[in-house]
Amino acid sequence: MGCIFCKIRDGIIVKEFTYEDKDVMVFPDIYPIKPVHLLIIPKEHIGDFLMVNDEKLMTKLTKVIQKMVKKEKLEDKGYRVVINGGGAQAVNHLHIHLVGPLGKTAEM
Ligand code: 5GP
Ligand code: ZN
Repeated sequence: MGCIFCKIRDGIIVKEFTYEDKDVMVFPDIYPIKPVHLLIIPKEHIGDFLMVNDEKLMTKLTKVIQKMVKKEKLEDKGYRVVINGGGAQAVNHLHIHLVGPLGKTAEM
């Protein structure tokens, strides 16, 4: 039991990080829906989007997302940034999906 993303953070589940700093970690989704499918995650356990109450953390997450878009060269290819919540959320530790490449007509 327990939070799977906290276990990844703590090294209990071994996962290679695409990016890591003291507040944020990034690793590939285990079931990618596009060639690039990264999860951008605060290290702090925040259950969901409605529990976010830290402007600095959101700014930091935004900067890391921007960095990952550039790192994966998705600027021109098309990408989507998604936070699932409520019944649409499977893992209860805030995480942001970065998915691409995809075009304008791609369904949500
Ligand atoms: P959501 O909670 O936004 O619906 O999605 C959770 C995402 O986490 C899913 O896309 C799922 O594939 C991914 N996921 C679930 N467990 C693991 C895991 O142990 N490792 C990784 N890398 N991804 C996971
Ligand atoms: Zn957690």
